[in-house]
Amino acid sequence: METSKMIEKLKEWQKQCAAYSMVLSTVYYDKETIAPKMGSEYRNNVLSYMSGEAYNIEVNEEIIKLLDELSNKDLGEELNREVYLNKKSLENISKFTKEEVMEFDKLTLDSWDAWYKAKKENNYSIFEPYLKKLFEAQRNRSIRRNPNKNPYDVCLDDYEESMTMEKYEEFFSLIKRELIPLIKIINTKQNEVDDSFLHKYYPIDKQKKFAEVLLHYLRFEDWGYMGISEHPFTDGISRNDVRITTSYDEYNIASTIFSIIHETGHAYYEHQVDEKYDDTKIRQCISSGMHESQSRFLENYIGRTESFWNVLYPKLQELFPENLKDVTLTDFVRAINASKSSLVRTEADELTYPIHILIRYEIEKGVFDGSISCENLNEVWNKKYKDYLDIDVSSDTDGILQDVHWSGASFGYFPTYALGSAIGAQLLNTVKKELDIDSLLANDEFVKLEEYLKEKIHFDGALHDYNYILKRATNEEFNPKYYIEYLKEKYSKLYNVK
Ligand code: ZN
Repeated sequence: METSKMIEKLKEWQKQCAAYSMVLSTVYYDKETIAPKMGSEYRNNVLSYMSGEAYNIEVNEEIIKLLDELSNKDLGEELNREVYLNKKSLENISKFTKEEVMEFDKLTLDSWDAWYKAKKENNYSIFEPYLKKLFEAQRNRSIRRNPNKNPYDVCLDDYEESMTMEKYEEFFSLIKRELIPLIKIINTKQNEVDDSFLHKYYPIDKQKKFAEVLLHYLRFEDWGYMGISEHPFTDGISRNDVRITTSYDEYNIASTIFSIIHETGHAYYEHQVDEKYDDTKIRQCISSGMHESQSRFLENYIGRTESFWNVLYPKLQELFPENLKDVTLTDFVRAINASKSSLVRTEADELTYPIHILIRYEIEKGVFDGSISCENLNEVWNKKYKDYLDIDVSSDTDGILQDVHWSGASFGYFPTYALGSAIGAQLLNTVKKELDIDSLLANDEFVKLEEYLKEKIHFDGALHDYNYILKRATNEEFNPKYYIEYLKEKYSKLYNVK
């Protein structure tokens, strides 16, 4: 077959795969937001059937042969990358039969329901048998996919190309050594920053009004939609149909605000990839760490600064005068940056956040190598929170059951959250030299920042791996020192730690 014909075939097949993936992700979004729980059994069966159909389309012998042939040709940077990413993904999937894929999908769907129930009832033992099966299944899948590699490394590579335990070990030991002592000091200096007014009563209907103001300020408009879910997330259904979610807590306004800013950071990445990559893996395989760097960048490095709140804070005060009329902008900004050991990762401040990730990383690694068991894993969890964050875990709901990820067997995903925060800090160091962020925010020119990020990061999708993009944007490979320095400097100052 002529090369041009082969490329045409590949394109057609990618289009078909992307169509299935879009329809499936719309149903998943629906499942996690508005679909009635009573319909879950029937829905799970349908979803499992549909993922089997998607498998039939994807694992196509002709395409596997065609990708093999194309991978020996020089087709130019973009097509070479498309071939590489498709080949990698197919090599993984085709190791399993359709029945095995459907069975695994069914396990994750049922596990999600069990996790949801366990969390509602504050009872880890409901989820424990599922978690055990999920770890076993994912471990076995990793061994099948690559018997020569450590199974947890296989999972880590799924979420961040080329990342390994060895590399994460170095990163996390730096976090452990440098940040835990500071966190413990700050826990004893809680009088330095008052954030009590953020935990007063903020009615949800008014929070929703502020969410509209915030999304408008962030220019999240015609191409996006925000729903409500148990756990906030972003689903890039297509470039101009990006769904995000938030959750509302009447006594924690900051949690709503920062989850919205965070997910909007993800949404921009999905929205700003070059349209020529629609239907391709270059749009679908963006590095998780790079993705997370964009959400963290917006949430923390922009969203927690005084200049970001200059325009927005008066509007927030107007909606909640009973709580905020006597709180100055400066005091508000100090409060949204307060640090204190807490139980829930998604509500954690910047300084303690990576410790939540470290704990999950150590547990995943331990269960994979057999040194930790799923039985009474909640106790292991609680002990680590006590040791690292000096905090007693009061319930499974706010402890081991807080995150949805494990119910989907997404082992190896969490570490990219800390990696993303560190990438974001490295990026901030460069952005500050190239843009006057303060004046840009003061003039309501948020769009200029998004254009900058589009050009430097988003536009190319997964055309390159994260290290290449980072080096292109910052002239340096990944270097966690910017992250550690940023956190130590900011929090030592805020809490007056000498
Ligand atoms: Zn995120």
